[in-house]
Amino acid sequence: MKPLSELFSKLVERIRGVEYIDEQTLQEISRELQRSLLKADVPLDMVKSFTDAAIRRMKEERPPPGIPVKDFVIYVIYQELVKLLGGEAEPDLKLPKRPYLVMLLGVEGSGKTTTAAKIALFYIKRGLKVGVVETDTVRPAAYDQLKQLAEKIGARFYGERDGGDAVGIAKRGVEQLKGVDLILVDTAGRHRNEQSLLEEVKAIYDAVKPDEVMLVVDATVGRQAAAQAEAFMKYVPIHSVAITKMDSTARGGGALAAVAKTGAKVKFIGVGEGVDEVEPFSPRKFVARVLGMGDLETLVERVKAVFEEEEVLEELESGRLDLLTFKKQIDALLKLGPLSKVLELLPGTLASKISDEQIELSQKNLRRWRAILSSMTEEELRDPGILNASRIRRIAVGAGVTPKDVKDMLKAYESMRKMSKMLRRQYRLGARGVRLQ
Ligand code: GDP
Ligand code: MG
Repeated sequence: MKPLSELFSKLVERIRGVEYIDEQTLQEISRELQRSLLKADVPLDMVKSFTDAAIRRMKEERPPPGIPVKDFVIYVIYQELVKLLGGEAEPDLKLPKRPYLVMLLGVEGSGKTTTAAKIALFYIKRGLKVGVVETDTVRPAAYDQLKQLAEKIGARFYGERDGGDAVGIAKRGVEQLKGVDLILVDTAGRHRNEQSLLEEVKAIYDAVKPDEVMLVVDATVGRQAAAQAEAFMKYVPIHSVAITKMDSTARGGGALAAVAKTGAKVKFIGVGEGVDEVEPFSPRKFVARVLGMGDLETLVERVKAVFEEEEVLEELESGRLDLLTFKKQIDALLKLGPLSKVLELLPGTLASKISDEQIELSQKNLRRWRAILSSMTEEELRDPGILNASRIRRIAVGAGVTPKDVKDMLKAYESMRKMSKMLRRQYRLGARGVRLQ
């Protein structure tokens, strides 16, 4: 992954220095984005629409209050990159039946045999029994290669050293290994010609009816990955893709994007020659790493929470303040993390105006309040005026607190309401200062 991170490092460095956005800054970011994506071999049309969308968002959306412009720019790029590489969904690694049968295919040297062993080990480590079948009879060394790997990782192995009939080997292998949880069938990648390779793949597919067909693609082919996928798709369905050698080239970025565009799902990436160097592919984690930010997820959560907080404040301003809004606000605050962190997000002058005593809203308090609010009825939330002693007692019991705690919360709610109005005005001022023009 290093080659890709290196490619984006100049962009990230550029963004780190951004304090406000003007036309020139936008153009520089746009150029740097295009340069990085093109070098990663992302298809041209995808580069163009990606950059257009990201720059438009930077122009039109404004960072939420308290979020520095540079963080907001990274947030936008992160979100768009995740979209480009297949979206937020995490790969589904569960095996829905037993034995689950996976057939690997791909051109010669793409890394099929290595990937078969890597995935076998991935599931062995999770406590499953795994078997591998070698059907590559074109390369005599293939048999020994997978047999040795299988011994090393503790997978069962089936192959026929002198066999010439790949379809027969596949059938016998699956039959022999049917007691395991997962069977991986490795195939040949070289043939007299492409046509005969594809026909053999199809014949094995028809003979063993795999639950999943996994295409293995070498990252160095970059955007050509799409053409490879499409060629195989004419013969057999492709359920998942493994992209190997992500450690050795930045073109893996283009391979990932191109595959995402075909609609196929990248499930694993190979990140080294070692048999344990494979990872489930999660666009979110991947992008965070490429942008060199382990804490990017935290930033994203924070930005989202501030947006929610903004919505609550909008409601406050519109005069629809009730305990329901208060509850929402507490949820948003809890998402933002400890209050000291929340204060860091506020414009400096405001943070210094609020003393420690003024707001001793520790996480613990917030949680207790949320419990209290949760045990109130909707009617009570809308109109706290109806809260009498017996209602307060009922609420306290429901929340596991004392009636005094309930009253304290109601008092805090009153002062919070006053403070919110002030915060609202301050937010406005703060937001204007960092608005993207
Ligand atoms: P096959 O012909 O498709 O079965 O490919 P192999 O599994 O034999 O792999 C071809 C070469 O690629 C071998 O030298 C592997 O060590 C290497 N290889 C496979 N996956 C990776 C990877 O993720 N990273 C690196 N650096 N090399 C890999
Ligand atoms: Mg092989």
